[in-house]
Formats: sequence, structure tokens, C-alpha cells
Amino acid sequence: MYPLSEIKNLSSLDNQQVVRIRGRVFSKKDCGRVLFLIVRDGIDTLQAVLVKSKEGNPLSIADYNLLRKIENESFVELVGQIYSPEKAVLACSQQSIELAIMEYTVLSRSVLDLPITLKEAACIEDKKNENQLFSSVQYVKRLDNRVLDLRTDLAQAIFRVNDGMLFYIQQYLRGHGFVEIKTPKLIGGASEGGADVFKVDYFGKPACLAQSPQLYKQMAIIGDFKRVFEVGPVFRAENSDTNRHLTEFIGVDLEMVIDQSYMEVVHLVYQLLVDLFGALNKKYEREIAIIQSFFNVPAITLASALVVVPFPDAVALLKAHGKERGDLEDFSTEDEKQLSAIVKEKYHTDLYVVTRYPSCVRPFYTMVDPNDKRYTHAYDFMLRGAEILSGAQRIHDHTTLCGRVVELGIAPSTIAHYLNAFKYGAPPHAGVGMGLERMLKYFLGLPDVRYSSLFPRDPKRLHP
Ligand code: ATP
Repeated sequence: MYPLSEIKNLSSLDNQQVVRIRGRVFSKKDCGRVLFLIVRDGIDTLQAVLVKSKEGNPLSIADYNLLRKIENESFVELVGQIYSPEKAVLACSQQSIELAIMEYTVLSRSVLDLPITLKEAACIEDKKNENQLFSSVQYVKRLDNRVLDLRTDLAQAIFRVNDGMLFYIQQYLRGHGFVEIKTPKLIGGASEGGADVFKVDYFGKPACLAQSPQLYKQMAIIGDFKRVFEVGPVFRAENSDTNRHLTEFIGVDLEMVIDQSYMEVVHLVYQLLVDLFGALNKKYEREIAIIQSFFNVPAITLASALVVVPFPDAVALLKAHGKERGDLEDFSTEDEKQLSAIVKEKYHTDLYVVTRYPSCVRPFYTMVDPNDKRYTHAYDFMLRGAEILSGAQRIHDHTTLCGRVVELGIAPSTIAHYLNAFKYGAPPHAGVGMGLERMLKYFLGLPDVRYSSLFPRDPKRLHP
């Protein structure tokens, strides 16, 4: 038996060689005497050719007829000889070779009536207004039949970049002394004392799904792991049907002990992102080109150094551009877009950080600025006009933390395990939380976060 080859690894150098390949029947063209089958393996395609009753070919007319009628998306194995066609095969990724079919095996047949064809799925109505997109019947149908949708070039490319993103983040963090941890997702009470939680019945006791690993990663710091990170599911019971919110997403969280300032974390994360984007652009050039052919979004522009805009300056910039708003009011989605446009014009960057968010818009555990209690040591990173990650220095002193909890009207008993951990002393620390799907959306310029979630969960979708 010939060893199994992958379509992507075949080349004109293999001319005359007999190979065995596997893939899906993408399309067929029967010209009466010659049958052309395009076989697909991921984002790679190859044209396989069968000539009826060709001398020396063991395949019969019955074989020809079977292959002529085989349903698209069936999974087949072909043995054949590689050769160079007279003209380049423009419809395939392998343009300079074809396969003369000598043997075939149908490993798994597809049904004839596909709920969506790959061709339909690939010529997305994404050219349409992005807000219409996910209520469109076509896209709902695609998500309902995600296994077929995942076979498109676009989805194949997105999830390869997604894999690269996870790999580089983990590699970078381990290389900088971080230890990967996994924290519980079943929580007694509410995970951050917050409201947007999915409640579950835990053997008759109230519990919820974690809306962040925040409190646990801090407890790991108190447990003397100096730098920790987690990649894991995060659940948000937010009924917001937008193009950047999911009800379950992959959180990439990190927390670290700091020396002098929370800016140590800001710089580390900035360098992580710059290195990450550079590495992805290099390693996934082909995948990114496929994605850009759908959405036509330019590559990210980065300034030569980190651009930091403290919150009060950001408010002043917005006001100078005609925005009427309160000084301590949180940014709306529109504000983030407008501010990013202003920053892009001024500093020529799609990535920047806003620091010193007001204390009234950040959670109870955020370190308040000791010099101006209206603000905090909190920061958000913006990419292409939207928040991709959020972080802060945390309060590490038990008395201060308990005081803040009471000040904000939170019942200490609901987070007693967390508060108690600080009784035994905690080093100054800070961290960030980011959504993997959100980051991928803005890095690639996808119109909706559902594209970067394998099986998205939103307020209207709990299947497949
Ligand atoms: P937003 O204001 O966009 O709703 P948030 O302030 O609630 O986000 P955080 O709780 O600070 O977000 O979460 C940190 C990061 O997690 C965000 O910057 C984002 O990357 C991601 N994230 C938060 N909520 C969602 C969501 N519903 N779906 C996907 N990613 C999310």
C-alpha cells in the first residue's frame, strides 16, 4: 500500500509518482469521456482526473459512473499518478499538478441534499451591513450546520490562526515565568459578587458558572505563585445580542506580582500583543490572506512604542471633538470607536491603552488611586476601535479590601473565602482578562465574534 500523502505536501516534484490521498469531493465536472473531481483537504485542493476506458487503467465504466454521481462532501481515498497539466488548474490550491485516478475507495458517503453547500457558505453575504448579518436566515443556517460551515476555507483559516494565537500566548507567558493554572467553573454564590451569572442547582444548593477566574487567580497569587495565567471558559448571562458578545467565551487571564507599578503589567501585555501579532502575520500569511479575501480589512497598524491615554485625557479628546459627556462616565461602544479614530489620527496606531479608569465604573477589588480617589489603577487595551482586554492593579490589603466591599454595598459573606485569603498577607499584584474570540475578531477584522467561536453561544443560541 502506498503511504498516505497530504494534498498540501504534493508538488510538481512528485511528477509521475503514484500517491495515496484522502479528502472530500468538493466538486465534479463530467465532460462525457473525462471526469474532473476536485478533492479538498482543509484549505488545500487538488484536481483528480479519470478518463473513461483508458488503456491500462484498471477502473471500469461502472467505476466512472459511480464517481460521476458521488455526492459532494463524501470522504474518499484516491490512489493515482501525479502529472503536470498543460494549463494551471486555477480552481485549486495545487495549480501545477493533477492526479490521474488509478484506484478509489469511498470511505464515507455524504447525503445528497446538504442543508448548506460549501459554495453557498463561502460566498457569504458579509458584504452586507454587519448588523444584518447574524439575523439573516443564511447565517443562522450556517451556524445550525456548523460542521459543514467549519469546512469552508474561511473557517479553516480562522481556527488555524486561533490555534496559533493560543500557542503563542502560552509560549510567551511561560517564557516570562508564568505558571498555567485551572480554576473552578462551578462556584458557590456569584463569582465576582456580580449579577450576570448563570445559576445552577448544585445538589439542591445555589451555585453559578464562573463569570471570570478573577478571584481564584488572585488567590493563586496569595498562594505564592508569582505569575499565573489561565485559559478557560467564561460564562456571562448578559442578554446582549451584539457582534462582540458571547454568553460563553474563552478567557485568557493573567495575574502577577508587581514591583513598583501596574504599568509593569501594561508593558508586558503590550509586548505580548506586539510579538503575537507579528508572529501570526508571519506564520499564518496564507490563512490571513484567505480571511482578507472575504473581509478586505487592512493589516493592523502599530505605533513604534506603546501609546497610553489616561482616562481624563481620553475624555478631554472626546469633548474636544464635540462629544458631550460626564467626566467619570464609562465609555460607550460609540465612545470607544470615536476615541480610537482620534488616537489613530494622532498616533497612527490601531492598538493603545487607556489607563486610570474612574473608580465608579470598576469592580470592588480594583486599586483606587491613593492620590485621587475618583480614579483607579485600571486599564483597558483597545484594538481597531474596541476593548479587547481589561485589567487593573488589585487591592491587596485585607482591611482596605473589606472597607471597599462594604462601601460598595456588597455583602462580605457572599465572598468570604476570597476576603479571608487576604488575612494572611498578599503581595501587590495586577493582571488582565481578555476574550480569545474577541481578540481574534479584532486582530483579523472579522465582522462578528461568532466567526471566531467554534460553536458560539449567544442569547439565542445554545445548539449545536
Ligand atoms: P464589555 O464592556 O465589552 O462588555 P466587559 O467590560 O464586561 O466587556 P470584562 O469583564 O472586563 O469585560 O472582560 C475582560 C475581557 O473579556 C474583555 O475585554 C473582552 O475581551 C472579553 N469579554 C468580556 N465579555 C465578553 C463577552 N460577552 N463575549 C466575548 N468576550 C468578552
